[in-house]
Amino acid sequence: MKVGQPEKFIIDGKRLDGRAVDELRPLKIKAGVLKRADGSAYLEWGGNKVIAACYGPREVHPKHMMRPDRAVLRTYYNMAPFSVIDRKRPGPDRRSQEISLVTRQALEPVVLTNLYPRTAIDIFIEILQAQAGTRCTGITAASVALADAGIPMKSLVPACAAGKVDGEIVLDLFDIEDNFGSADLPVAIIPKTGEVTLLQMDGNLKGDEFERAFKLAVEGCYQVYEKQKEALIEKYGGGD
Ligand code: ADP
Repeated sequence: MKVGQPEKFIIDGKRLDGRAVDELRPLKIKAGVLKRADGSAYLEWGGNKVIAACYGPREVHPKHMMRPDRAVLRTYYNMAPFSVIDRKRPGPDRRSQEISLVTRQALEPVVLTNLYPRTAIDIFIEILQAQAGTRCTGITAASVALADAGIPMKSLVPACAAGKVDGEIVLDLFDIEDNFGSADLPVAIIPKTGEVTLLQMDGNLKGDEFERAFKLAVEGCYQVYEKQKEALIEKYGGGD
């Protein structure tokens, strides 16, 4: 057993933070929080605090990145040095590059980049406080920031993870479960079609466990989707 690892993660059906196995951490989304960005969103999801800022369509620098037939979508995931318990060394690293890449891949299928050739759409995701699941939080925030910027999209993209602790499949791992649990499965979807735009796995799951975890994560995505829509309705009004 690793240092700091709890003996059990689920006691009398409750997780160490008091949640049921299929319960999300509390999630609050606010659209349009930054004046100078074209679009932005702030999320508090459990102990995660994340801001996303979207700029564009705008001129492309460096010019060689320009595409004649579409906008280039660029994503920048960054963790603040004070966002984690041990200070994180500032600046890009392999992990932030990987998360920037999967975030772009998760969002690219919905953004109508063909409408804005020769431009760039930039999305900055800043993790102010981290408690596991920051890539899902970032993708969820980024898609609200894109919508807030008025960028035409086929859909919002909600993201959510499921995982395994104490041999049980659980929704939306928090840091103790993520650090010491046996698997983490972040997923992002296009809600109307059920298409999957992010699917990663850390740890090990058997075939049937994978299927259950995947299904649970997708259910989590639909809950997150409702919150994304609520945030946009709160700012812009309207309904269906
Ligand atoms: P995600 O945040 O998407 O779950 P990881 O599984 O890589 O991505 O990270 C899990 C958690 O571990 C993070 O949310 C954060 O709480 C913590 N963490 C990540 N990188 C660092 C770091 N450099 N220093 C301390 N904690 C970190």
